[in-house]
Formats: sequence, C-alpha cells, structure tokens
Amino acid sequence: MHQVVLGLGGNMGDRLSLLKNARKLLTQQMSLEKESLIYQTAAWGGESKTPYLNQVLVLTTNLDAIDCLDFILNIENQLGRERVIKWGDRTMDIDILYYDYEIINTERLKVPHPYMVDRNFVLVPLAEVLPDFVHPQMGKSSMVLREECEDSLKVKPWCDIS
Ligand code: ADP
Ligand code: MG
Repeated sequence: MHQVVLGLGGNMGDRLSLLKNARKLLTQQMSLEKESLIYQTAAWGGESKTPYLNQVLVLTTNLDAIDCLDFILNIENQLGRERVIKWGDRTMDIDILYYDYEIINTERLKVPHPYMVDRNFVLVPLAEVLPDFVHPQMGKSSMVLREECEDSLKVKPWCDIS
C-alpha cells in the first residue's frame, strides 16, 4: 500500500458539495486515513476573485503514482473542471502533494508538488494532519514549512464536515 497526500481546492460552484463529491469519488479507489478541516483562502495568483475552499486528505492506495495522477485528473474532469486560464477559477483542483516518501520528476508528474512549500493554503491543512511528516527534498516537517512560509494570504478554518 502507498500513502498519497492530496491537496484539494476550488472556488466555483457549490464549493462544499464539490469537496464532498471529490472525496466520495477518491474513496472508490483509495481509502481515507485522515482529513484536514476545510479552510477558506483568498484566491492565489491569476485574476480569480471568489475565495477558495481547500482541504488536505491522506489516503492509502494500491495505485502507482502515475495511475493516481490519471485517477485524480479524471475526477477533476467529472467535477466539471475547465482549464481556461492558468491559476484561474476552477471547480476542483486536486494535486498530489506527497506519494510515500518518493521524489518524482517527470514531465507529467512532479512530487512533492513543486509549489506546495510556497502556499499557506496547502501548508496550513497539511501541518494539521501530518505535522511531523518530513518533505523529502526540503528535509523539513510540515510544521516548520508552515512557519517559514512567506505567503501572506490568510487561511481560515471554514467548516468541519466530519
Ligand atoms: P495547478 O495545480 O498548478 O494549478 P493544473 O492543475 O492546471 O495546475 O496542472 C495540471 C497538470 O499538472 C496535470 O496535467 C499534471 O500533468 C501536472 N502535474 C505535475 N505534477 C503534479 C502533481 N504533483 N499533482 C497534480 N498534477 C501534477
Ligand atoms: Mg492541479
């Protein structure tokens, strides 16, 4: 079994239902180990205006890393994601933050996710669920990465659905 850590977020449509639906679809092939609270974050980059809801899930799966990627991209598509503008509004973005303790650097897949260490909306929920997990390239725990992150966007707990 592999441990996969996913960052979910969206700022279009019924954001809470979309997070719940994403989780339901993910758990058809993966089993849920931990989930963070849901956080609300002002839109990062681009021209987006509506705030995002973000959540981090820790799952286990038999899928290898590239099959995980295909699986999550398929779920994004099912949930109506349209890629219009880079970093623009979207119904659902699912990123692989960690896959076990692996470092993957192919054209289609980079793990750990290259931008995660710059983003409070990833590091805040990640530090909640896996505070001591060490980033295999940075050599720092989620807590330390969160403390050192210079992202100025505010990330506030939004709602606990559990
Ligand atoms: P972003 O998540 O940076 O806003 P996109 O979701 O539009 O950008 O990017 C999707 C593409 O990113 C996918 O087609 C995939 O090939 C690539 N990608 C590379 N590494 C990862 C990763 N760790 N998780 C998800 N997608 C990744
Ligand atoms: Mg993505």
